Amino acid sequence: MKPFEKCPVCNGEIVEKEVEKLLRGGIHTAVISVHAEVCLHCGERLYSHETVIQFEQIRNKLKRQEVSEFELLGKSFRVNPIHEDKHLRGAAM
Ligand SMILES: [Zn+2]
Repeated sequence: MKPFEKCPVCNGEIVEKEVEKLLRGGIHTAVISVHAEVCLHCGERLYSHETVIQFEQIRNKLKRQEVSEFELLGKSFRVNPIHEDKHLRGAAM
């Protein structure tokens, strides 16, 4: 049984999909594939209670650096905003 028949945000139609969820804890990021109800109209994702608990457990593990059971995917990078004067020079060209 679906927990929601319609999107609680926009009342749009909802379909069950496998989605990739990005979880952050401390400096770490993890990706997990989970089932979610996704709104076809606004893209709102609705997760089951069990899934939300699972997210929380993963976030806590990331925070505590307990990542030995996770598969290493690659490095994460933060992209700093483009510096102001660089941006202006670019626009003048
Ligand atoms: Zn919606």
